[in-house]
Amino acid sequence: MSVGQGLHAFARELYPICRSITGGGVRRTLALIGQRLPLALREVPSGTRIFDWEVPPEWNIEDAYVLDPRGAPVVSFADHNLHIVSYSEPVQLSLSLEQLQARLHTLPAAPDWIPYRTSYYQRSWGFCLPHRQFSQLPPGRYHACVRSRLQPGSLTYGEWYLPGRTRQEVLLFTHICHPSLANDNASGMALLPALAAWLASAPRRYSYRAVFAPGTIGSLCWLKANEQRLGRVAHGLVLGLLGDAAPLTYKRSRRGDCEIDRVAAYVLRDPALTGALIPFEPYGYDERQLCSPGFNLPVGRLTRSVNGGYPQYHSSADDLGLIRPAALAQSLAVCQRILSVLEDNRRWVGTHTKGEPRLGKRGLYGSTGGGSPAMRERSLLWILNQADGSASLLDIAERSGVAFDEIAAAAGELARVRLLREAPDAAGAKAKAKPPPRRPS
Ligand code: ZN
Repeated sequence: MSVGQGLHAFARELYPICRSITGGGVRRTLALIGQRLPLALREVPSGTRIFDWEVPPEWNIEDAYVLDPRGAPVVSFADHNLHIVSYSEPVQLSLSLEQLQARLHTLPAAPDWIPYRTSYYQRSWGFCLPHRQFSQLPPGRYHACVRSRLQPGSLTYGEWYLPGRTRQEVLLFTHICHPSLANDNASGMALLPALAAWLASAPRRYSYRAVFAPGTIGSLCWLKANEQRLGRVAHGLVLGLLGDAAPLTYKRSRRGDCEIDRVAAYVLRDPALTGALIPFEPYGYDERQLCSPGFNLPVGRLTRSVNGGYPQYHSSADDLGLIRPAALAQSLAVCQRILSVLEDNRRWVGTHTKGEPRLGKRGLYGSTGGGSPAMRERSLLWILNQADGSASLLDIAERSGVAFDEIAAAAGELARVRLLREAPDAAGAKAKAKPPPRRPS
C-alpha cells in the first residue's frame, strides 16, 4: 500500500463516525487515532468557563428520522450523519408539512447534496436533505423523531507530545468535530498521525505537540489549559483540508513574518507544487483562536482548498471520492519538508571571521559534496561570510540564491571541522518564543 493509499484508508475508517464538538463520536475518533499514536486524552466538563465561552452540554445521538404522511421514512440519520443538524435536541412530534419545512435545510444550488448544519450554542433541532427530495414532499402530517441526549458531560480532546533536544515546541493542530466530511476534515485527522509517526522516527531539535480537538471551543480549551506554557510555542501549523485536488495553500500567521511563514513560503515556492500563499484573515479554523490578539501565536495554516473554497464544502459531496491518495501523500510530504527546513534552519557563528578560513587544509576544497564542487564552494563561502549569529540558514539560502538543502549540508560540513558553532540564541537557549529578526535582503 502506498503512503497515499494508507492515508486514504485511515480517512475511510474515520469518515463514517458521527462527530460533533462533544460526545461519543469524538471519543471513538480519538480511540482510532490513539491506535496509531499514544494520545493523552483530556476531558473538560460541561459548564466550564473558557475565556468568553462555556463548554456546552455533551451531545449524543442514537437515531433520528422523519416519517411522511403514509408512515414511510423520508429522512433517516441511519442513512447519512449529515441528515441531522448537529446538536439537535430530542424531539418526538407530529407536524404539518409547513411546520416541518421550517426545520429542513437544503442546498437549492446543488439539489442532490445534503448540507452540513450545526446548532451548538442555541438549542434547536433540524434535518438536512437534498433539495430535490425536499421539493417533492407531499402535503399532510409528518412525524419527526430525534433520539438525542444533551446532558452534562465533557468535551474531549487528545494530545501527543514528542520531546526534542530543546523545550521549544512546534504545535500541530487539527479539528476533529466534523461528521462524515472527507476533506474537511477526515483528511487532516488521517494525515497528522502519520506526520507525528514520522517525527518520532528520528531525534529532533524541537519538541512537538499534536493536538486533535473540536474546532473553536476545543482549541480554546487547549489554550486555557496551556496559557502559562504558550511561550514555548516557537512555531505552529493548523492542518486540515489536505486531500482534495487543489494545490496547497499556506495562510500566514497573524504576525505575518514568523519563521514558519518564511519557511512555508520557501517550501511552497517549489514550482512543482504551484502552491499559494494567502495573508492572515480572522476567518477559517483554529488559527482564529491561536492567533487571537491575546495569544498571537506564531502559527500558520496549511490546507489545499481553503474553507468555503470548493463547491462541495460542508456538504455530502465532500466525500471519500473527493480526497485522493496522491494529494494526501503530497500534503504529508510538504508538511515533512516544512518541518525539516524548520529543524535545519539554525543560526551559526563562524569561528574564524578575520579573512576567509583556509578550506584546503581542512579538506573542504574540491571533494564532492551535495551538488557540483563549484556550487558547494559557493555555499561554504556564503555561510562563512554570513554566519554572524543573526542570519539563519534560510536567510543565507535566500540571499545567496543557493538551495536551502545545499546550504544546510555545507553548514554541517563546516560545523564538523569547527569552523561554525551554533549561535547562543538558537532554539532552546530560551524558553520564550521570539520572532526571528527581520533582515534586509
Ligand atoms: Zn468545516
